[in-house]
Amino acid sequence: MNNIAKKFFMALSQNETLNTTAKKWGPHLGAEKVVAGTTIPETITSIKKLNAYGISCTVDNLGEFVSEKNEAVKAKEQIISMIEAIHYNHVDAHISLKPSQLGLDIDFDFCLNNLTEIVAKAAEYDIFVNFDMEDHPRLQPSFDILDEITKTYSNVGTVIQAYFFRAVEDIKQYKDLRLRIVKGAYKESENVAFQTKEEIDDNYLRLIEWHLLYGKFTSIATHDHHVINHVKQFVEEHDISRDKFEFQMLYGFREDMQHGLAEEGYNFCTYVPFGDDWYGYFMRRLAERPQNLNLMFRQVFNKRTNTVIGLVAGAFVLGRLSKRNKKDKE
Ligand SMILES: Cc1cc2nc3c(=O)[nH]c(=O)nc-3n(C[C@H](O)[C@H](O)[C@H](O)COP(=O)(O)OP(=O)(O)OC[C@H]3O[C@@H](n4cnc5c(N)ncnc54)[C@H](O)[C@@H]3O)c2cc1C
Repeated sequence: MNNIAKKFFMALSQNETLNTTAKKWGPHLGAEKVVAGTTIPETITSIKKLNAYGISCTVDNLGEFVSEKNEAVKAKEQIISMIEAIHYNHVDAHISLKPSQLGLDIDFDFCLNNLTEIVAKAAEYDIFVNFDMEDHPRLQPSFDILDEITKTYSNVGTVIQAYFFRAVEDIKQYKDLRLRIVKGAYKESENVAFQTKEEIDDNYLRLIEWHLLYGKFTSIATHDHHVINHVKQFVEEHDISRDKFEFQMLYGFREDMQHGLAEEGYNFCTYVPFGDDWYGYFMRRLAERPQNLNLMFRQVFNKRTNTVIGLVAGAFVLGRLSKRNKKDKE
């Protein structure tokens, strides 16, 4: 059942028609709980609220897998406006971005120029920029862009996804950057990535421990309290200073725990997505872990949204069945 739910939401996340319709609606179906605003001023207000709890923010202009140059340019301009808003509002925040939103799938040099422009503007204001990591085909090109940009700028870092076999090598290569370590959110093949929860969790802890001991600065991005408790104990035992790491969670998830960790004196950073391109992000959150799916149902779904999801799920299953029937007949 969990696998069906995962495939269902992953398939929905890639549906272009639903994505276009969703943009027109604005955040719905519970997405409004996990998206901090559709405009920059709304998002700055959300950031100020988090800052008041001693929580810093990493801000993501929603959108990905862009295939038109004008869309990538629009995204770049929006991110630069957000950098200016962070600076002029004196909020404690930096930028997270997805290379595929800035033209990675269109042309390498075009994307490199867009990212360089963003990083250069952020450097003017001493603002950090994190390159989020996407799926496997985009992994090496993203590292290649990072390699080019770090020749000139030092206000950049990236993400290591623990489900990849190559993560252990990548973390060593990029140990001198500020790194966010995550389990990994995309569906990846068994040729390149661990498939079981146990293997991914084991590798996750191994990578975190290594980077805490030998790396520059570690962002431990997880909602998993087992991992968080393990890290608390590990840093205590190895006398690792609290300035060397932070915990990160997504906006709207486990808010009590976010506030609690900040109150305990740990550096805490919330990943704050904003904009109207919420659909793919939201569907991936529902798809990525069955536990999250259940929690989302409990936390944000009411009778009306359950009905909508039920209808969409029914249509999805019927669509799959009729496709299969058609294939059987052919
Ligand atoms: C700040 C941030 C940035 C990210 N950036 C990227 C990125 O650039 N690239 C990428 O591929 N992925 C990224 N991810 C997603 C990440 O890879 C995982 O897919 C996602 O975080 C789910 O894994 P998890 O470690 O949170 O816990 P899971 O493995 O989903 O859950 C483990 C356990 O934690 C508990 N738990 C989890 N969620 C909740 C909840 N909401 N409430 C209560 N208990 C809960 C449950 O007990 C669950 O069994 C990011 C995640 C975060 C938090």
